Formats: sequence, structure tokens, C-alpha cells
Amino acid sequence: MKKQKERTVKMPKNITIIGAGPAGSYLAYLLAEKGFGVSVIEEHKEIGLPVQCTGILSKEFLKIFPKLDKEYLINKISKVRLFSRHKSVVLPINDIVIDRHRFDKYLFKKAEKSGAKFHLESRYLGFKDSCAFISDKSDKIKKIKADILVGADGPLSETAKSNNLFGKRKFYTGFQARIRGNFKKDTYEVYLGSICPDFFAWLVPESNTIARIGIASKTDIKEKFDNFLKIKQIKPSQIIDRQAGLIPIFDQKQQISQGSQVFLIGDAACQVKATTGGGIIPGLKAAEILAGCIINKKDYRKSLKKLDKELRLHLAIRKMLDRFNDRDYDRLLAMLGSRHADNILKRYSRDSPIRLVLNLIFAQPRLLLYLKKLL
Ligand SMILES: Cc1cc2nc3c(=O)[nH]c(=O)nc-3n(C[C@H](O)[C@H](O)[C@H](O)COP(=O)(O)OP(=O)(O)OC[C@H]3O[C@@H](n4cnc5c(N)ncnc54)[C@H](O)[C@@H]3O)c2cc1C
Repeated sequence: MKKQKERTVKMPKNITIIGAGPAGSYLAYLLAEKGFGVSVIEEHKEIGLPVQCTGILSKEFLKIFPKLDKEYLINKISKVRLFSRHKSVVLPINDIVIDRHRFDKYLFKKAEKSGAKFHLESRYLGFKDSCAFISDKSDKIKKIKADILVGADGPLSETAKSNNLFGKRKFYTGFQARIRGNFKKDTYEVYLGSICPDFFAWLVPESNTIARIGIASKTDIKEKFDNFLKIKQIKPSQIIDRQAGLIPIFDQKQQISQGSQVFLIGDAACQVKATTGGGIIPGLKAAEILAGCIINKKDYRKSLKKLDKELRLHLAIRKMLDRFNDRDYDRLLAMLGSRHADNILKRYSRDSPIRLVLNLIFAQPRLLLYLKKLL
């Protein structure tokens, strides 16, 4: 009797995903693998372009893709050098650098091989009566059946806008350039403090001769970026290309679904770590969670509990850092340079901030001073 009941549960036949970034293509792969009919709508002609990302990922990535693929992996990073106004400290880290163009294509190929159908050069316009409306490359309006519609269409998500889910989201603007020079291939650099009071600046090496240099902020991004290039003494002739993009700020009140038919994931849902602006891993995790919810008919918000909790902690740490001045950063770097902290940082990744912060405080109780700022 129970078996008969299970068989009559109606599964959605057509799942339409807007956006073929990492979150959208990974979700398409997970659902197509399980036999769902999946359509992915992507406005660009070439998957993964234009690139608007540094591509640095913590070792948490290995929990999702245990085998790194040469197709997208371009560098492994074992050290981070943090700079404050008067101090610098080198800490161990276990990160990778990926080529976003190739990573997005890697996920697209996996999804396509599993049966997902991609509509490139097609722009999502709106959703009505279980159909997504899209305009194709010749501006013809087409209807695509969507028992479920998923917005994986990035920070300015049209899916969110057209389904009253956009809300009052806020953003950082990220500016980045690929540059030629001499770099330490195994070390990435982070610049904290008055250089960019509401975020940080970075230099991530692709190799010994090419690096990605960037900064993100809510205000005056061009001036801050030019100033950073000046500090690093980068000449215009060293610049290979420039990239820019928006980074949404996580907000626990952000609505991410409407009934059991419309869902948002990744940047479209503001699932980004507020400490670093990293959105690839949270987006991939959200894709796994949403796939599980669609397959097992579970509640998406409730299932996101653990990820939401982590993103909330990142946001709390960001709010604390926003109140730091140069002196606070100097003191923090001095504490992080201790041997105990070093060992903790070796063990935990920033994608598990709760364990990382707790263990750091046990190793270095003076960090508790900063909890005052957090609270
Ligand atoms: C300068 C910068 C550096 C960054 N560095 C890092 C980093 O080092 N590590 C990290 O983890 N994160 C980083 N991020 C964040 C990261 O790039 C995003 O979190 C990630 O790309 C989000 O993936 P997504 O699949 O949710 O959305 P996206 O990658 O934005 O993909 C959305 C897709 O939807 C498509 N689309 C949009 N609207 C429509 C429409 N109406 N119709 C059809 N298609 C549409 C777009 O073309 C795009 O392909 C960085 C961001 C910036 C701006």
C-alpha cells in the first residue's frame, strides 16, 4: 500500500534553470543525472565568458569535487601573506586557483552529457503559467515549459526581479586586472585596512609571471583600484586585461523561493561569503541542497539551515572587520602570527568559519577582545 502511494507522487517533468554559471550548470547536472527534463537558458554565446572572477577556492571545494581536473585547475596556493598598514604575516593555506572560463565549460559539458538541454544566446524575460519566456538570438520570443523555475542568473537576477524576490539587496563592486610580472606562485596576498576599509585588496598568482590583482568596495572603486595599482607599482604596460563585476552581500532576510515553483541559487540568492566575496563554493553547495529538495520534495529554506548559518557568521565577521582601523589590523595580524593560530589555520578552511573561529579563540584567547566588536 505504502509502495503504491510512493509511485503516485508526481515529479516535476520540466525544470528550467536560468543562467549557466557554476551554480546553474551544476544543478542542471545533478537533476539531469536523476532523469529530470532540464533546460538551461544562458544569454551569452560562449559559456564562462566574460570572466568576472579571481577563481580562488578553499580546500572545501574538494568535498564537492574530490578529484581536481587539469581542465580548469591552474595553480595551487600554500601560503597567504596578509598585509596591514605596519605589519605583514605569512600563514599556511591550502587553496587552489581555477580558470573560470574552463571551469564553467567543464560543468556545462558534464550537465549536457547527463541530458540537460542548453539554450545559448537566449535571454530570460519572465515567467507565467508555468512557462519561461525567453528571447533568442534573432529576438524571437519563445515559451519554455517550466514546472519548476530556478534563477541561477547572478547578482542582478532577472528571475528574482520578475518573481518579486529581488528585495533590497546590496553589492560590492569588484575590479580586477590580469598582470605580468614576477610573482611567488605559491603565495597569495591580501591587503587590509585603510587601503580599502570596507573590504580588501588582493593579488592571486596564476603562475610565476601572471597574477590577478583586484579590489572590491561599496564606494569609489575606480579610485581605490588605481591607488592599489600605484602602491604595487604596476605599470599600464603590465596589464593584460581588466574585469569587473558585482558581488552581492548575503542577507538572511533575502527571499529565495516562491511557493514550490520558483527558487534562487548562487549569486541570484546572495549566497556569498561576506568576508571574502567568495560565491562559487556556497553556490555549488546550494545547488546540491536544492537538487536534494526537488528530488525528495523537501523544504529548501529549512534544508539551507547549515549553509545559512555559515553565511551568517561570515556576515557577522565582516561587520566586525568593517569597524577595524589600521591599528586593529596590526594587532590582529600579530596574534594570527602565533604558532598556535598557525596550526589551527592549517587544519580548518574558511568555508567552515564556525569551527575555524572557535578553534582560533581557544588557541589565542586575546582574539576574544575582538568579539566585543562582533557583538
Ligand atoms: C572581481 C570578482 C572576483 C571574484 N572572485 C571570486 C573568487 O576568487 N572566488 C569565489 O568563490 N568567488 C569569487 N567571486 C564571486 C563569483 O564570481 C560568483 O559568486 C559566482 O560567479 C556565482 O556563480 P553563479 O553561478 O551564482 O552566477 P554567475 O557566475 O554570475 O552566472 C550567472 C549566469 O547567468 C547568466 N544570465 C544572467 N541573466 C540572464 C538572463 N536574463 N537570461 C539568461 N542568462 C542570464 C549570465 O550570463 C551568467 O552566465 C568574484 C566576483 C567578482 C566580481
